[in-house]
Amino acid sequence: MSELKGWRELPIGAIPFKLSTEFKTGDWRTFKPVIKQDKCVKCLLCWIYCPDMSIVWDGEKVTVNYDYCKGCGICAHECPVKAIEMVKEG
Ligand code: SF4
Ligand code: SF4
Repeated sequence: MSELKGWRELPIGAIPFKLSTEFKTGDWRTFKPVIKQDKCVKCLLCWIYCPDMSIVWDGEKVTVNYDYCKGCGICAHECPVKAIEMVKEG
């Protein structure tokens, strides 16, 4: 078995040099989550499950940071009261 390379041996470009906050990944999205505030029971499961930390809780309501939301739909899948609808972008 060959030995793994150290990070100094990786080719240029293999390591991102910017902070992840500088990559606005929201433009990867095909579907966007829309939260129906009248149905939301503020359980914050969407906040826990979102892999991109794109669900924002301000102490009163949950919203989506569309700069980083990739539209994976996990939040909509996990919402126990179906308060999140995935809507096609465009
Ligand atoms: S669609 Fe995915 S990335 Fe966007 S808020 Fe929901 S869980 Fe997060
Ligand atoms: S999972 Fe659904 S009910 Fe819970 S906070 Fe998120 S949108 Fe609201």
